[in-house]
Amino acid sequence: MHLSTRLHLLDLIRISASAESACRAADRAARKASIRRKEAAATRRQRRLALRSAPSGGAVDALADAERVYRERAADVDAAGARWRRAFTASARADARLGGELASARVLTGSDRPRAKGGRTKAETALLAELAAMPATLIEAAHAILVQSSAGKDSVVALDRVVRWAKAAGCLDKVVVVHADIGEEAEWPGVRDLAQQQAERYGLRFVVVKASVGFLGMVEKRGLWPDAQNRLCTSTLKRDEAAKLFTQIVDELGLDDQALIVNCLGIRAAESPSRRKKHELAIDHRASNGRRLVLTWHPVFHLSETDIWQEIADQTLDYHPVYDTLIPRLSCIFCILASFEVLVRAVRLCWVLGLPTPKTYVDLEQRIGHRFKNQFSLAQVVEEASRREAAEGPLIWRRGDAIRHHLGEDAAAAYLHRLALAA
Ligand code: SF4
Repeated sequence: MHLSTRLHLLDLIRISASAESACRAADRAARKASIRRKEAAATRRQRRLALRSAPSGGAVDALADAERVYRERAADVDAAGARWRRAFTASARADARLGGELASARVLTGSDRPRAKGGRTKAETALLAELAAMPATLIEAAHAILVQSSAGKDSVVALDRVVRWAKAAGCLDKVVVVHADIGEEAEWPGVRDLAQQQAERYGLRFVVVKASVGFLGMVEKRGLWPDAQNRLCTSTLKRDEAAKLFTQIVDELGLDDQALIVNCLGIRAAESPSRRKKHELAIDHRASNGRRLVLTWHPVFHLSETDIWQEIADQTLDYHPVYDTLIPRLSCIFCILASFEVLVRAVRLCWVLGLPTPKTYVDLEQRIGHRFKNQFSLAQVVEEASRREAAEGPLIWRRGDAIRHHLGEDAAAAYLHRLALAA
């Protein structure tokens, strides 16, 4: 199938999904309007009875008021019903068009209409899986390629892979590295600088996005820590900020037609059960619209942690020294997803580096009266870190310990040698 047909079908899938969700929203709004009309009718009935049983000027006014509210609610029901009918028609039209075009492109056959038996999802998965297997084609087709970089190990490998493919396709100039700054007090020192250096190594444009309120400000404002089910930190501080950049990039491109933006994230299936459910390539339905089709691409999706370290060693990629203390992720200093053991290590590393972060977080935890995690508080983490510190002394590590740990002594020695030569 020609690439332009594939992208056209993906956009039709986006339109059909968006029309369906608009239809569902209109349906919810119509139901709510109908409930409010019933409530207004009940109030009107009560006031009619009240007027009959005890006529007075006040009861007349109260009934007139109830009549007015009822008329408004009834008009709302009519308007919501009309909106739902329009949304339903648009959704049915989008499905019919999609179904027809998928059938003529032989992506869907027989009774696999878009909404029947998950036909649309099936088609989306098939089209994207084939495209994910052609990274060079995907890169060539994209008008802009954004690599979201936390400066962590998975991001740096994802970036290196994208750069190698983009270089081979002769379109390195399309690649932009984006770093979401979540607040100095929440991140390990040097993270932003490292993300910049990693981008500059390839001569790439580097953009920092930052929400007006950082991680700690967000927690203070809500009076709650985020958790795995409500990862507001990721959605508000990273995803929403990156989405603003899509608009800017599309404006800069100044295209007449819809732009294809490939947004790369260094996430891996092996990291967690929820990540395993994701796909290597997906339509970002929330960020896409008529002006841009945004595809989320996970170039390291199928790699294991050892594979990642192997690529870091093989490609002599620079990584943050936090990994050498055997903290597995370069996330926030205290990540809401980290285990107790990792958090204890993070506290001890803060003490070695002279960072005030443990006290800042424990103070905040006490002030808002909400535990950092359901299972334990940060105060307990700090308590355990003090006990370990007393028993074992301060944390010690050597440069290269992360590679030593994952790939062995020889690999670490070779990596450090190459890194020194490249410096
Ligand atoms: S690293 Fe953890 S705490 Fe920080 S933004 Fe991501 S999920 Fe939230």
